Amino acid sequence: MKDENFLKANNARSLWHPMTAPADSLSTPPTIVTGASGVRIRDIDGHEVVDAVGGLWNVNLGYSCQPVKDAIASQLEALPYYSIFRGTSNDKVIELAEDLRDFFAPDGLERAFFTSGGSDSVETALRLARQYHKIRGEAGRVKYLSLKKGYHGTHTGGASVNGNANFRTAYEPLLPGCHHIPAPYTYRNPFNETDPARLAQLCLQALEDEIAFQGAGTIAAFIMEPILGAGGVIPPHPSFMPGVEAICRKNGILLIADEVITAFGRTGAWTGSRLWGVKPDFACTAKAITNGYFPFGAVMISGAVAEVFERDATGKAAIGHGYTYSGHPVGAAAAIACLAETRRLNVTDNAAARGAELFDGLKALQARHAVIGDVRGGHGLMCALELVADRATKAPADKATTARVQETAYRAGAMVRVSGPNIILSPPLVLTSADVQTILTALDAGFAAL
Ligand code: PMP
Repeated sequence: MKDENFLKANNARSLWHPMTAPADSLSTPPTIVTGASGVRIRDIDGHEVVDAVGGLWNVNLGYSCQPVKDAIASQLEALPYYSIFRGTSNDKVIELAEDLRDFFAPDGLERAFFTSGGSDSVETALRLARQYHKIRGEAGRVKYLSLKKGYHGTHTGGASVNGNANFRTAYEPLLPGCHHIPAPYTYRNPFNETDPARLAQLCLQALEDEIAFQGAGTIAAFIMEPILGAGGVIPPHPSFMPGVEAICRKNGILLIADEVITAFGRTGAWTGSRLWGVKPDFACTAKAITNGYFPFGAVMISGAVAEVFERDATGKAAIGHGYTYSGHPVGAAAAIACLAETRRLNVTDNAAARGAELFDGLKALQARHAVIGDVRGGHGLMCALELVADRATKAPADKATTARVQETAYRAGAMVRVSGPNIILSPPLVLTSADVQTILTALDAGFAAL
């Protein structure tokens, strides 16, 4: 490793950080992480903490998952790269596709299209959705619907269906024909509805209204996260996603589940779609598919959609889309090992049990700290605290407040993530009860410091 002073002095000199203003990196140096083991990360000063962010919602199995490391190392020896563009394939990607087909069978998803990450997976699903309609002779179905507060990555299609201005405004104009409906976000919504079941119905009505307004025959797909993640961990009422599915079916609109965060156990169910009992047409995955150890992703495709492409007689089904790293053998090897470990460790059970402990602990913190306006979670290990300057008016807490909580919690033993007024928690799914307590104690210290 380079000298510590060199690293600290040069971080912001030659690199720009994603999702960060370059000037902020200069004025507020980042935490430089140099090592990790289990569920803990270690920084350049030797300070070790529980990583309550789980990398970036992706290191589900922690930092010491030896089978995945070994799979990557041996695949680098056997075949470090080969493309799967027309006319070639590789052994690992075939094996992985079979494994994924098995894993996603209960969701009705039978084919895999490989990508290099979540944004690629979203872009792929959006494009294939339009192509599906063209093959079927409905070329007018080109628009996309999505949820406000949804996050679907940063490529132009994904940014266009994103429902948060922070990821859109600087890059406009984005794709035409993308329309957003209110999210079932109980704490704040345009209907002032505080009952989650009634709010779900209002949002479904808004979806029906938007479809009628646009014309069903103009809409290719509706994309949603089974639990909104980056928008602040917003779990919908259990009636919501099945309601969306029914409306999509009725109107010939494809349902894309953006499972980049929710697949592979994070919600306490194997997939977010399974959590709500829906069968999407596409599921976008990435992140935990390789435990974050290798950039990789997959779009899973339903049997019904696959059949339209595979039985095409119009000549419109050639997939003019793909990435140099689609089906990368090292990523595929990592994913095969990761799936096996995910199943062997039965991570859903631990995610559900530790998630319940974390959620209860966060509610106890809310009872003690007025700055916590809302506590969200209750489905596995994805939780958020929404901080407010005033509980009565729900005025959002300022940046200095969230930064203070984050800094103090870090010094007290846990890395947490700040996103707008939210503190987001998405720790590895192999967390212990003692680790949950460490996170809660660290957060308590963070709030006490205000
Ligand atoms: N979709 C969702 C739901 C995500 O949470 C993310 C990343 N946080 C993405 C897409 C984009 O994934 P990536 O950053 O790997 O491109």
